[in-house]
Amino acid sequence: MKNEDEQLDKDIKQLNDYANKFLSKLSLMEENSEKISEEVEILKENWNKKFPELEKRSGDLEIIINKNKSNREVIFNSIPEDLSMIYKRLLKAKDNVAVSKVSAGSCSVCHVKFPLSTEEQLILGKEIVFCDNCGRILVII
Ligand SMILES: [Zn+2]
Repeated sequence: MKNEDEQLDKDIKQLNDYANKFLSKLSLMEENSEKISEEVEILKENWNKKFPELEKRSGDLEIIINKNKSNREVIFNSIPEDLSMIYKRLLKAKDNVAVSKVSAGSCSVCHVKFPLSTEEQLILGKEIVFCDNCGRILVII
């Protein structure tokens, strides 16, 4: 009988220990859950503040993009057809980069320095000048 009581006391103590551990973990989890909820609220507030601003910016950018597209169309259509054909062909062949800006005597795409005669041709501006290395149209901006 005494042994049974001792065993019972031992079991009760074990169960209490387990319950205490469980409860302390549970309270820790509730604390974390509360912190996360607060962070979510802050994020929601920030989102609600920034969303209209970003939506407006997106709309403005769309307007600018469409305007640029139509300007591009007008300019592109004013280019003589033989030149626009060359441009289109280069776009296809050169990963959508047909034109290269001249930078310090070299092609800004392939970075190969070209001879002085090429630079002179560019300055004269009488004909289209291509990069000897990558074949793109060179322009001075
Ligand atoms: Zn080049």
